[in-house]
Amino acid sequence: MKLIFKFLAITTLTSSTALFTSCGSLSGSKPKEVVVPVKTSKPSLSSQATLAKKVLNHPKITLLRKQVSGRLDSASSYHNIASTARGYSAKRSSYGTAPGGYVKLRKQMLQTMLYLADTKGYSYRITSIAGGSHSRTSRHYAGIAFDVDMINGRKVSYSNPYYKAFMRAGRAKGATEVLGPGNKAHSSHVHLAWPR
Ligand SMILES: [Zn+2]
Repeated sequence: MKLIFKFLAITTLTSSTALFTSCGSLSGSKPKEVVVPVKTSKPSLSSQATLAKKVLNHPKITLLRKQVSGRLDSASSYHNIASTARGYSAKRSSYGTAPGGYVKLRKQMLQTMLYLADTKGYSYRITSIAGGSHSRTSRHYAGIAFDVDMINGRKVSYSNPYYKAFMRAGRAKGATEVLGPGNKAHSSHVHLAWPR
């Protein structure tokens, strides 16, 4: 009671009746808790599974269910996102230079997939994430890269009017390896990758 009184005395200096009222309602708690607000941490970011679920069900994002080569190996972009949405790692392919095994997809990349569709308004198709055969040290195998071959209903090529801005948007979201038409072996797709 003594402590509450002390607190009331402090608040009177700057207070209004409203403060007194709120004080009364808090009379059961320690004054210290009233004066020093409990520090709350920032709300935690969505988990990979939650983000992947959104990607999976996003009307503007199409996920290829096979490899670009036509191969069916459960490591397609669709399979990668679907297993991440269920809380599992994404499967890598086991042909060419692909190392096989599984890898967790990075949150930042999944967030960017949603950003490109939601904030930037692109509809696009992802042809490859952790699966497929790429260069030997490809960031795809680390779960930090994805490829896009269609943007706003048009194939990625020099004449696609959207790919440059799409690449810029990826760079703005932290992608450091951004390739597309004009770069070797990327005339038909955009590649976005994050630092290791
Ligand atoms: Zn790529």
